[in-house]
Amino acid sequence: MTKPTLRHLLEETDAFVTVTEVVPARGLAPDALSRRSLEAARALVDDPRIAAISITDNAGGHVMSNPVVLAEELLGRGQDVIVHVACRDRSRNGLLSLAWELERRGVRNVLAVSGDHPVEGFRGLSEPVFDVDSVGLVALCHGLVNEPGPDGDGTAPGLYIGAAVSPFKRLEAEAILQYLKLGLKIRAGADYIIPQLGYDARKWDELLRWMRLHDLRRPVLANVYVLTRTVARLFNANRIPGCVVSDELLATVERAAAGPDRGRAFFLELAAKQVAIARGMGFRGAYLAGHLPAVDVDRVLALADGFAPDWPDLAREVQHSPKGTFFAYRRDPATGLGTDELDPRYARSITPAARAGARRRASPWYRFNRLAHDHVFAPGSAGFRAAGRAYERVERWHLDRPLHVLEQALKIPLYDCRDCGDCSLPDVAYLCPESQCPKGERNGPCGGSHDGTCEVLPRRCVWVRAYERLKPYGEELTVLDRPPVIVDNALRRTSAWANTFRGRDHFSRETPS
Ligand code: SF4
Repeated sequence: MTKPTLRHLLEETDAFVTVTEVVPARGLAPDALSRRSLEAARALVDDPRIAAISITDNAGGHVMSNPVVLAEELLGRGQDVIVHVACRDRSRNGLLSLAWELERRGVRNVLAVSGDHPVEGFRGLSEPVFDVDSVGLVALCHGLVNEPGPDGDGTAPGLYIGAAVSPFKRLEAEAILQYLKLGLKIRAGADYIIPQLGYDARKWDELLRWMRLHDLRRPVLANVYVLTRTVARLFNANRIPGCVVSDELLATVERAAAGPDRGRAFFLELAAKQVAIARGMGFRGAYLAGHLPAVDVDRVLALADGFAPDWPDLAREVQHSPKGTFFAYRRDPATGLGTDELDPRYARSITPAARAGARRRASPWYRFNRLAHDHVFAPGSAGFRAAGRAYERVERWHLDRPLHVLEQALKIPLYDCRDCGDCSLPDVAYLCPESQCPKGERNGPCGGSHDGTCEVLPRRCVWVRAYERLKPYGEELTVLDRPPVIVDNALRRTSAWANTFRGRDHFSRETPS
């Protein structure tokens, strides 16, 4: 039996689809967890309710076998699949050849993610690549595999490109930036969306509402992770980047798990409630994860059918965000979800008066950077034109090397510059993403920050800091209104100033001549 494709179901029907997730085996002899996951995948092939099986790519930064092997097996049995593709382990060329390989092997659906930072490796930690980020990967798949044209392959049917978003963020900066980055991914070519997991229907509502109000029209599958006590503890302790279980939900989990079934009925019911809520809210499907045997998938879907009429009540019940979580929209007391009006506290923080007050408190260093940018580095400014002429002479007289040394003498102590030659300081509120972000994210934050702290290092996420710098100037909502930034590695260890003024960096590539 060959099932309809995910693309067909999402693009050409109104069907509510179910996707299940499988984690490939680790090593040559799969452990018990992987075996259970693989057996479930094989058993679900015959279940007509399962639209696709989604195969992770070294999730959590742990090494697993290549998802393509399992994808081919499932495709051979008539089961559509989603293959996750992470930027962590491959350069852009490696990603492109993988994209072509997937297309040739009949894989039609990919999920483009930056990927969790590696946590292990052979005789020491593996070196992450992050040559491009998830936005760059979406653009690459869209531009070089799907599009016709000088660079694109453009042979039908191409890839159906999925992208992730993390709405379950506690801070305003993290949440809003996730939504802005989602917009950038969609403009770059994302076809469908899978949010990170979480247990708050109001956050789901916020995501769908934001997408509707910002005209981001793409099918969204609600991520429903079936918990266990161990996993809930890991999520609560922030051991898996971006996965959130609040203290209050963990307390409920602990009570349920103390019962004779170790909480199994509770966990399956919670998942079924989430599926029913997702369907009622207008998600296009449910993405079931959590190493589920086929019998549990069946149980969740059967319970969800029974819960369907009660979804509005369940949506009030399943609201487990951590205390103090930011919401963009005013709560509707009638539904417990959002309204189209902004949350009053958030709305007050973006009034002209509030922004003016915050501007007065902006750091003199940031103000100086803005001044210098406006007068020297902004294309069209008198300073930019003069610098362009000066650098033209500098290069003609072969003085570029000493000037580069001078530039580095300033930029290393001031910005911790890494001499990439394709500078993104103006993109990230004059913070260097090469040195301040372990993934070098130039197109908004990854999904791994927790309460504003970086997924990898014990310091504030560079994008949260950028948001806080931009907000007093009313620029935080437009920071990603631009094409994806993709670094040109040919410019490494060359003068970023020369490259800016002589039109060789990404700013020039973005500006139509
Ligand atoms: S600085 Fe922010 S975007 Fe970069 S890795 Fe850390 S959490 Fe992710």
